[in-house]
Amino acid sequence: MKRFTGLFMAAAFVLSTFGIALAAPTYVTIGTGGVTGVYYPTGGAIAKMVNKKRKEYNLRATVESTGGSVFNVNAIAAGDLEFGIVQSDRQYQAYNGLADWEGKPVKELRAVFSIHPESVTIVANAEKNIKTVADLKGKVVNIGNPGSGQRGNAEDLFAAAGIDVNKDMQAEGMKAAESASMLQDGRIDAFFYTVGHPNGSVKEAVAGATKVNFVAVPADIVKKLTDKFPYYAPAEIPVAEYPGVMNTEDVPTFGVKATLCTSANVPDDVVYAITKEVFENFDEFKTLHPAFANLTKESMLQGLSAPIHPGAMKYYKEVGLMK
Ligand code: GLU
Repeated sequence: MKRFTGLFMAAAFVLSTFGIALAAPTYVTIGTGGVTGVYYPTGGAIAKMVNKKRKEYNLRATVESTGGSVFNVNAIAAGDLEFGIVQSDRQYQAYNGLADWEGKPVKELRAVFSIHPESVTIVANAEKNIKTVADLKGKVVNIGNPGSGQRGNAEDLFAAAGIDVNKDMQAEGMKAAESASMLQDGRIDAFFYTVGHPNGSVKEAVAGATKVNFVAVPADIVKKLTDKFPYYAPAEIPVAEYPGVMNTEDVPTFGVKATLCTSANVPDDVVYAITKEVFENFDEFKTLHPAFANLTKESMLQGLSAPIHPGAMKYYKEVGLMK
Protein backbone atom coordinates (compact mmCIF):
# COMPACT_ATOMS: atom_id res chain seq x y z
CA MET A 1 0.00 0.00 0.00
CA LYS A 2 2.73 2.40 1.03
CA ARG A 3 4.75 1.52 -1.99
CA PHE A 4 1.71 2.01 -4.20
CA THR A 5 1.06 5.46 -2.74
CA GLY A 6 4.69 6.35 -3.28
CA LEU A 7 4.53 5.26 -6.90
CA PHE A 8 1.36 7.19 -7.41
CA MET A 9 2.87 10.33 -5.94
CA ALA A 10 5.94 9.93 -8.09
CA ALA A 11 3.75 9.53 -11.17
CA ALA A 12 1.67 12.57 -10.22
CA PHE A 13 4.89 14.53 -9.71
CA VAL A 14 6.19 13.56 -13.16
CA LEU A 15 2.87 14.39 -14.79
CA SER A 16 2.58 17.77 -13.15
CA THR A 17 6.24 18.59 -13.82
CA PHE A 18 5.72 17.95 -17.50
CA GLY A 19 2.52 19.95 -17.50
CA ILE A 20 0.19 17.05 -18.24
CA ALA A 21 -3.09 17.93 -16.65
CA LEU A 22 -5.25 15.31 -15.02
CA ALA A 23 -8.18 17.65 -15.47
CA ALA A 24 -11.72 16.51 -14.87
CA PRO A 25 -13.60 15.99 -18.13
CA THR A 26 -15.97 18.66 -19.43
CA TYR A 27 -19.58 17.49 -19.52
CA VAL A 28 -22.00 18.94 -22.02
CA THR A 29 -25.71 18.19 -22.39
CA ILE A 30 -27.65 18.30 -25.64
CA GLY A 31 -31.36 19.13 -25.24
CA THR A 32 -33.58 17.27 -27.69
CA GLY A 33 -37.34 16.53 -27.73
CA GLY A 34 -39.66 13.63 -26.94
CA VAL A 35 -38.11 10.17 -27.11
CA THR A 36 -40.32 9.10 -30.05
CA GLY A 37 -39.31 12.11 -32.20
CA VAL A 38 -36.18 12.60 -34.31
CA TYR A 39 -34.38 15.12 -32.06
CA TYR A 40 -33.74 12.55 -29.36
CA PRO A 41 -31.93 10.02 -31.59
CA THR A 42 -30.25 12.95 -33.38
CA GLY A 43 -28.79 14.15 -30.09
CA GLY A 44 -27.68 10.57 -29.48
CA ALA A 45 -25.98 10.44 -32.88
CA ILE A 46 -24.08 13.70 -32.22
CA ALA A 47 -23.06 12.57 -28.74
CA LYS A 48 -21.88 9.24 -30.12
CA MET A 49 -19.55 10.93 -32.61
CA VAL A 50 -17.83 13.11 -30.03
CA ASN A 51 -17.77 10.52 -27.23
CA LYS A 52 -15.71 8.18 -29.40
CA LYS A 53 -12.90 10.69 -28.98
CA ARG A 54 -13.54 11.32 -25.31
CA LYS A 55 -9.88 10.81 -24.42
CA GLU A 56 -8.61 13.18 -27.07
CA TYR A 57 -11.01 15.98 -26.19
CA ASN A 58 -11.57 15.20 -22.50
CA LEU A 59 -15.22 15.82 -23.29
CA ARG A 60 -18.40 13.84 -22.51
CA ALA A 61 -21.68 14.60 -24.24
CA THR A 62 -25.00 13.41 -22.85
CA VAL A 63 -28.51 13.74 -24.21
CA GLU A 64 -31.65 14.93 -22.47
CA SER A 65 -35.27 14.47 -23.56
CA THR A 66 -37.06 17.84 -23.34
CA GLY A 67 -40.24 19.66 -24.37
CA GLY A 68 -38.67 20.71 -27.70
CA SER A 69 -37.29 23.75 -29.52
CA VAL A 70 -38.62 26.56 -27.35
CA PHE A 71 -37.63 24.78 -24.16
CA ASN A 72 -34.14 24.18 -25.60
CA VAL A 73 -33.56 27.82 -26.56
CA ASN A 74 -34.61 28.99 -23.10
CA ALA A 75 -32.46 26.38 -21.37
CA ILE A 76 -29.44 27.40 -23.48
CA ALA A 77 -30.10 31.05 -22.56
CA ALA A 78 -30.31 30.11 -18.86
CA GLY A 79 -27.07 28.09 -19.05
CA ASP A 80 -28.90 24.87 -18.12
CA LEU A 81 -28.02 23.24 -21.46
CA GLU A 82 -24.84 23.72 -23.50
CA PHE A 83 -26.50 22.56 -26.74
CA GLY A 84 -30.02 22.11 -28.01
CA ILE A 85 -31.74 21.05 -31.19
CA VAL A 86 -33.97 23.88 -32.35
CA GLN A 87 -36.24 24.43 -35.35
CA SER A 88 -34.74 26.97 -37.77
CA ASP A 89 -37.83 29.20 -37.39
CA ARG A 90 -37.43 29.20 -33.62
CA GLN A 91 -33.73 30.01 -33.92
CA TYR A 92 -34.64 33.02 -36.07
CA GLN A 93 -37.38 34.22 -33.74
CA ALA A 94 -35.30 33.80 -30.58
CA TYR A 95 -32.26 35.64 -31.93
CA ASN A 96 -34.40 38.44 -33.38
CA GLY A 97 -36.76 38.79 -30.40
CA LEU A 98 -39.97 37.65 -32.12
CA ALA A 99 -42.93 35.41 -31.22
CA ASP A 100 -42.18 33.74 -27.83
CA TRP A 101 -39.19 36.08 -27.44
CA GLU A 102 -40.99 39.32 -28.33
CA GLY A 103 -38.97 42.16 -26.82
CA LYS A 104 -36.42 39.79 -25.26
CA PRO A 105 -34.05 38.57 -28.00
CA VAL A 106 -31.67 35.75 -27.04
CA LYS A 107 -28.54 37.56 -28.20
CA GLU A 108 -26.16 34.89 -26.92
CA LEU A 109 -27.79 32.19 -29.09
CA ARG A 110 -25.34 30.70 -31.60
CA ALA A 111 -25.81 28.34 -34.54
CA VAL A 112 -23.58 25.29 -34.99
CA PHE A 113 -25.04 23.43 -38.01
CA SER A 114 -28.40 22.44 -39.41
CA ILE A 115 -29.56 18.85 -39.69
CA HIS A 116 -32.64 17.19 -41.24
CA PRO A 117 -35.71 18.90 -42.75
CA GLU A 118 -38.87 18.89 -40.63
CA SER A 119 -42.39 19.18 -41.97
CA VAL A 120 -45.45 20.45 -40.18
CA THR A 121 -47.30 17.15 -39.91
CA ILE A 122 -50.99 16.99 -39.05
CA VAL A 123 -52.16 13.48 -38.20
CA ALA A 124 -55.93 12.88 -37.96
CA ASN A 125 -58.38 10.15 -37.07
CA ALA A 126 -59.57 9.01 -40.52
CA GLU A 127 -63.16 8.58 -39.29
CA LYS A 128 -63.42 12.32 -38.58
CA ASN A 129 -63.14 13.24 -42.26
CA ILE A 130 -60.39 15.84 -41.81
CA LYS A 131 -58.85 16.20 -45.25
CA THR A 132 -57.68 19.81 -45.21
CA VAL A 133 -56.88 22.50 -42.63
CA ALA A 134 -60.41 23.99 -42.66
CA ASP A 135 -61.82 20.61 -41.57
CA LEU A 136 -60.03 21.01 -38.21
CA LYS A 137 -62.73 23.50 -37.15
CA GLY A 138 -64.84 22.11 -34.33
CA LYS A 139 -62.37 19.32 -33.60
CA VAL A 140 -60.17 18.43 -30.63
CA VAL A 141 -56.63 19.19 -31.80
CA ASN A 142 -53.36 18.78 -29.92
CA ILE A 143 -51.32 21.72 -31.21
CA GLY A 144 -48.41 20.89 -28.88
CA ASN A 145 -46.99 21.79 -25.48
CA PRO A 146 -45.80 25.39 -24.98
CA GLY A 147 -42.09 24.36 -25.10
CA SER A 148 -42.48 22.66 -28.46
CA GLY A 149 -41.70 23.94 -31.92
CA GLN A 150 -44.97 22.76 -33.47
CA ARG A 151 -47.22 24.92 -31.32
CA GLY A 152 -46.10 28.15 -33.03
CA ASN A 153 -46.33 26.50 -36.45
CA ALA A 154 -49.95 25.50 -35.73
CA GLU A 155 -50.72 29.06 -34.61
CA ASP A 156 -49.13 30.56 -37.74
CA LEU A 157 -51.04 28.12 -39.93
CA PHE A 158 -54.42 28.84 -38.35
CA ALA A 159 -53.81 32.60 -38.51
CA ALA A 160 -53.02 32.29 -42.25
CA ALA A 161 -56.15 30.14 -42.77
CA GLY A 162 -58.38 32.58 -40.88
CA ILE A 163 -59.15 30.07 -38.13
CA ASP A 164 -59.26 31.14 -34.48
CA VAL A 165 -57.36 28.58 -32.39
CA ASN A 166 -59.23 29.58 -29.24
CA LYS A 167 -62.76 29.71 -30.62
CA ASP A 168 -62.97 27.47 -33.66
CA MET A 169 -61.64 24.27 -32.08
CA GLN A 170 -60.68 22.69 -28.80
CA ALA A 171 -56.90 23.16 -28.81
CA GLU A 172 -54.88 20.95 -26.45
CA GLY A 173 -51.30 21.48 -25.26
CA MET A 174 -49.88 18.01 -24.72
CA LYS A 175 -46.42 16.74 -25.57
CA ALA A 176 -45.88 15.00 -28.89
CA ALA A 177 -44.93 11.75 -27.18
CA GLU A 178 -48.51 11.45 -25.91
CA SER A 179 -50.23 12.31 -29.19
CA ALA A 180 -50.21 8.90 -30.89
CA SER A 181 -51.90 7.06 -28.04
CA MET A 182 -54.39 9.89 -27.47
CA LEU A 183 -55.39 9.78 -31.12
CA GLN A 184 -55.73 6.01 -31.00
CA ASP A 185 -57.85 6.23 -27.84
CA GLY A 186 -60.18 8.83 -29.38
CA ARG A 187 -59.26 11.53 -26.88
CA ILE A 188 -58.12 13.86 -29.67
CA ASP A 189 -59.18 14.07 -33.33
CA ALA A 190 -55.86 15.30 -34.70
CA PHE A 191 -52.40 16.41 -33.65
CA PHE A 192 -49.60 18.64 -34.92
CA TYR A 193 -45.98 17.54 -34.97
CA THR A 194 -43.20 19.44 -36.72
CA VAL A 195 -40.79 16.60 -37.24
CA GLY A 196 -38.41 14.75 -39.59
CA HIS A 197 -39.55 11.63 -41.44
CA PRO A 198 -39.73 8.82 -40.73
CA ASN A 199 -40.20 9.02 -36.95
CA GLY A 200 -41.42 6.76 -34.17
CA SER A 201 -44.33 8.96 -33.09
CA VAL A 202 -46.09 9.02 -36.45
CA LYS A 203 -45.34 5.32 -36.96
CA GLU A 204 -47.00 4.63 -33.64
CA ALA A 205 -50.05 6.70 -34.63
CA VAL A 206 -50.37 4.89 -37.96
CA ALA A 207 -49.86 1.39 -36.56
CA GLY A 208 -52.93 1.29 -34.29
CA ALA A 209 -56.47 -0.01 -34.80
CA THR A 210 -57.85 3.49 -35.50
CA LYS A 211 -57.11 4.38 -39.13
CA VAL A 212 -55.35 7.71 -39.61
CA ASN A 213 -54.62 10.15 -42.42
CA PHE A 214 -52.35 13.15 -42.91
CA VAL A 215 -54.07 16.51 -43.38
CA ALA A 216 -53.05 18.59 -46.41
CA VAL A 217 -52.14 22.27 -46.18
CA PRO A 218 -53.60 23.94 -49.32
CA ALA A 219 -51.12 25.56 -51.72
CA ASP A 220 -52.53 29.10 -51.27
CA ILE A 221 -52.00 28.89 -47.51
CA VAL A 222 -48.47 27.51 -47.95
CA LYS A 223 -47.76 30.45 -50.24
CA LYS A 224 -49.13 32.94 -47.71
CA LEU A 225 -46.84 31.47 -45.06
CA THR A 226 -43.69 31.32 -47.22
CA ASP A 227 -44.33 34.90 -48.47
CA LYS A 228 -44.76 36.23 -44.95
CA PHE A 229 -42.09 34.29 -43.05
CA PRO A 230 -38.50 33.88 -44.34
CA TYR A 231 -38.01 30.60 -42.47
CA TYR A 232 -40.85 28.57 -43.98
CA ALA A 233 -40.55 26.49 -47.14
CA PRO A 234 -42.99 24.18 -48.96
CA ALA A 235 -42.63 20.53 -47.88
CA GLU A 236 -44.25 17.13 -48.31
CA ILE A 237 -44.96 14.22 -46.01
CA PRO A 238 -43.69 11.00 -47.60
CA VAL A 239 -46.53 8.47 -47.30
CA ALA A 240 -44.28 5.55 -48.31
CA GLU A 241 -42.62 5.83 -44.89
CA TYR A 242 -45.90 5.03 -43.15
CA PRO A 243 -47.54 1.84 -44.40
CA GLY A 244 -51.16 1.73 -43.26
CA VAL A 245 -51.82 5.49 -43.51
CA MET A 246 -54.96 6.29 -45.55
CA ASN A 247 -53.31 8.79 -47.93
CA THR A 248 -52.13 7.37 -51.24
CA GLU A 249 -50.01 10.37 -52.33
CA ASP A 250 -47.41 12.51 -50.58
CA VAL A 251 -49.15 15.23 -48.61
CA PRO A 252 -48.36 18.93 -49.19
CA THR A 253 -47.47 21.09 -46.19
CA PHE A 254 -44.73 23.51 -45.14
CA GLY A 255 -41.58 23.00 -43.13
CA VAL A 256 -38.36 24.12 -41.48
CA LYS A 257 -35.01 22.59 -40.58
CA ALA A 258 -33.71 21.11 -37.39
CA THR A 259 -30.57 22.97 -36.24
CA LEU A 260 -28.00 22.51 -33.51
CA CYS A 261 -27.70 25.61 -31.33
CA THR A 262 -25.47 26.64 -28.47
CA SER A 263 -24.55 29.74 -26.48
CA ALA A 264 -21.80 32.28 -27.07
CA ASN A 265 -20.69 31.31 -23.53
CA VAL A 266 -19.79 27.72 -24.51
CA PRO A 267 -16.00 27.52 -25.13
CA ASP A 268 -14.72 27.41 -28.73
CA ASP A 269 -12.82 24.13 -28.29
CA VAL A 270 -15.99 22.31 -27.16
CA VAL A 271 -18.04 23.51 -30.15
CA TYR A 272 -15.09 22.85 -32.46
CA ALA A 273 -14.79 19.24 -31.24
CA ILE A 274 -18.48 18.48 -31.80
CA THR A 275 -18.55 20.13 -35.22
CA LYS A 276 -15.38 18.40 -36.34
CA GLU A 277 -16.43 14.93 -35.24
CA VAL A 278 -19.84 15.13 -36.96
CA PHE A 279 -18.35 16.45 -40.22
CA GLU A 280 -15.27 14.20 -40.27
CA ASN A 281 -17.46 11.13 -39.69
CA PHE A 282 -20.24 12.36 -41.94
CA ASP A 283 -20.89 9.07 -43.77
CA GLU A 284 -21.31 7.22 -40.50
CA PHE A 285 -23.40 10.03 -39.02
CA LYS A 286 -25.83 9.83 -41.96
CA THR A 287 -26.49 6.16 -41.27
CA LEU A 288 -27.59 6.85 -37.70
CA HIS A 289 -31.15 7.96 -38.62
CA PRO A 290 -33.22 7.48 -41.80
CA ALA A 291 -34.28 11.18 -41.64
CA PHE A 292 -30.61 12.03 -42.41
CA ALA A 293 -30.72 10.25 -45.80
CA ASN A 294 -30.45 13.38 -47.96
CA LEU A 295 -28.00 15.40 -45.86
CA THR A 296 -24.94 16.93 -47.47
CA LYS A 297 -22.23 18.86 -45.68
CA GLU A 298 -23.25 21.98 -47.61
CA SER A 299 -26.93 21.54 -46.67
CA MET A 300 -25.90 21.51 -43.02
CA LEU A 301 -24.78 25.13 -43.31
CA GLN A 302 -28.20 26.34 -44.54
CA GLY A 303 -31.00 27.71 -42.38
CA LEU A 304 -28.71 29.24 -39.76
CA SER A 305 -29.90 32.69 -38.72
CA ALA A 306 -28.12 33.23 -35.39
CA PRO A 307 -24.38 33.97 -35.76
CA ILE A 308 -22.29 30.83 -36.25
CA HIS A 309 -20.36 29.98 -33.09
CA PRO A 310 -16.62 30.75 -33.55
CA GLY A 311 -15.70 27.16 -32.60
CA ALA A 312 -17.79 25.82 -35.49
CA MET A 313 -16.59 28.59 -37.81
CA LYS A 314 -12.98 27.62 -37.12
CA TYR A 315 -13.68 24.13 -38.47
CA TYR A 316 -15.67 25.35 -41.51
CA LYS A 317 -12.79 27.67 -42.45
CA GLU A 318 -10.17 24.97 -41.94
CA VAL A 319 -11.87 22.63 -44.41
CA GLY A 320 -13.00 25.35 -46.83
CA LEU A 321 -16.74 24.99 -46.22
CA MET A 322 -16.80 28.72 -45.43
CA LYS A 323 -14.55 31.63 -46.24
N1 GLU B 1 -39.68 20.00 -33.87
C1 GLU B 1 -40.10 19.55 -32.58
C2 GLU B 1 -39.91 20.67 -31.58
O1 GLU B 1 -39.20 21.59 -31.82
C3 GLU B 1 -39.35 18.31 -32.10
C4 GLU B 1 -39.27 17.22 -33.12
C5 GLU B 1 -38.45 16.02 -32.69
O2 GLU B 1 -38.31 15.79 -31.49
O3 GLU B 1 -37.96 15.35 -33.59
O4 GLU B 1 -40.46 20.66 -30.52
